[in-house]
Amino acid sequence: MSIIQKTATEQLALLQAGELTSVELTQAYLDRIEQVDGSIGAFLRVESDSALQQAATIDAKRSAGDSLGKLAGLPVAIKDILCTKDTPTTCGSRMLEHFQPPYNATAVEKLLSADAVILGRTNMDEFAMGSSTENSAYQTTQNPWDITRIPGGSSGGAAACVAADMAPLSLGTDTGGSIRQPAALCGCVGLKPTYGRVSRYGLIAFASSLDQIGPLARTVDDTALLLEVLAGYDPLDSTSVNRETPAYSQTVHQPLEGLTLGVVEQHFSEGIDAEVATSVQQAIQVYQSLGATIKSIEMPHADYGIATYYIIAPCEASSNLARYDGAHYGYRTDQAEVLAELAEDGSDEGPLVRMYRKTRSEGFGSEVQRRIMLGTYALSEGYYEAFYLKALKVRRLIRQDYDRAFEQVDLIIGPVTANPAFAKGEKTSDPMAMYLEDLYTVTANLAGVAGISLPCGFTSAGLPVGLQLQSAPFEEEKLLRAAQMYQSATDFHSRRPELS
Ligand code: GLN
Repeated sequence: MSIIQKTATEQLALLQAGELTSVELTQAYLDRIEQVDGSIGAFLRVESDSALQQAATIDAKRSAGDSLGKLAGLPVAIKDILCTKDTPTTCGSRMLEHFQPPYNATAVEKLLSADAVILGRTNMDEFAMGSSTENSAYQTTQNPWDITRIPGGSSGGAAACVAADMAPLSLGTDTGGSIRQPAALCGCVGLKPTYGRVSRYGLIAFASSLDQIGPLARTVDDTALLLEVLAGYDPLDSTSVNRETPAYSQTVHQPLEGLTLGVVEQHFSEGIDAEVATSVQQAIQVYQSLGATIKSIEMPHADYGIATYYIIAPCEASSNLARYDGAHYGYRTDQAEVLAELAEDGSDEGPLVRMYRKTRSEGFGSEVQRRIMLGTYALSEGYYEAFYLKALKVRRLIRQDYDRAFEQVDLIIGPVTANPAFAKGEKTSDPMAMYLEDLYTVTANLAGVAGISLPCGFTSAGLPVGLQLQSAPFEEEKLLRAAQMYQSATDFHSRRPELS
């Protein structure tokens, strides 16, 4: 078995035992990227030189007997939405094509202080808006299981690079499903932490009350390892919560006794693909055979999740994205063109307003523009109460559904998506169909609870199916332990796509 087929936890043990160097491991991944990323397109930028340098520094520290961080020597890929000091961070947008942040996101700082090696930056839907990575301004990403299909999104690059063995670990972000959905469609593990568990400092904001950074990996124990490094209070993010971080990587192997899992009947009603439903039902049976009790639960407001999310997220986005005005930073349209245009069309629009308008029309792609318009509309006078305020109320009801559910069950079990990975281009001209991808994932963000996606089967066409477990806030430890129980009893996580 080649080194890149081993899990991060196994690689870490070899590094610690002195049987592998970080330079060797990093080089093996760089070779793999060179070999297969031409057909996958997971990376926007591969940072080979700095990765090898970091790896050499860590190897030297190890040889000198210095103390090392928890991820010492392991390569990690980063979604291009996290600020990295003095290196490009594009957020998949033309708007930030030449942007080099003056500081590191806390999540990036944490990786660096854990002695991880940053391998490169992964592709994503522009400003994390999308479910297929087709909204990236730069390139599309192909699903490693079938390159005619999308990898999911918005963290499509993050999931595809892990699925295709181009990185053992990666960071994604999840505002309405963007870690869990691509993890499901690419057959890897992805965890959206509780809102507040991981600092959002330096995460380029999409919808601030929903955004969370989280890990993607091939296995549950690797996911636990990365979450342990990411989690924790950060005075730079006032919404991060001051709680101790459990030793997830230590406890993940302890099975849970007397586990009660809740099943929401609506999740299996019309609209779900039959093969996806079967795989998820079989996963529920696996838990039963492991001693879990299955209980049917009600989530009366879950059906309003999409409508609520697609008001709140665009409202927050319209406000967050107001800062890209061409004046402060990021893309700015050609000034001379603005003046020439105004002289020609004789409009009384001032040069400043025209500059804003042209900058934003040219810098943002069509989905981002759609969200800004939806959000601005829903927040405008006369509509605010009918849309935004109403959505906030329904959000509260959804949270109450979860609170009630978690009084009766430990975790909620169900599908991540209704369908396996769809064909490229299939939903690009139908925003509603694209939004429905998020049916089972957005409620966790609206309620602020944690969720994990793990591989639970394959369709007859060989496409991965994901299983979702959701926990009450700050119960990631339970979530990971329960996920590990399933992984120990099954082998879907160990199958690899065939790539030439
Ligand atoms: N697909 C959802 C959207 O387009 C979720 C995106 C996300 O989680 N970043 O908004």
